[in-house]
Amino acid sequence: MNEDLRMRIDHSPTPTVEQFFIELIDVLWKACRDTDKAGRTLCVEIQEIDGDEDDTGYVCDLEDEFYMCLEARVDFGTRCDYLVHEMAHIDCWERTVKREEDHCMIWGVSYAKMYRTYLNFYNKFWECDE
Ligand SMILES: [Zn+2]
Repeated sequence: MNEDLRMRIDHSPTPTVEQFFIELIDVLWKACRDTDKAGRTLCVEIQEIDGDEDDTGYVCDLEDEFYMCLEARVDFGTRCDYLVHEMAHIDCWERTVKREEDHCMIWGVSYAKMYRTYLNFYNKFWECDE
């Protein structure tokens, strides 16, 4: 990511930045495969996560919703990265496949797709043509 733009995200705790994050959740959610969402809703919370130092967030597949928790003690750009990571899990989960490995090759494809969606939205939101 362009360093100048990165700084703009990381160091601008403005309503616009919060708006960007809220809209990003919506954009990524819509990009997730419908077969994996199966009519359920998404709940995202930002919290200080206890546990391993490298805990960045997690997402759970509950009966009628996906519950996602993202670590609060990071800068804004990093929080967006964590969101993209967790959304890739939702896109990748298949009802018919055992979830034995979290970051399998299918997840990698989903992650690339989510990151591309994130960058496209980023450029559109901040009106960058790069
Ligand atoms: Zn993961």
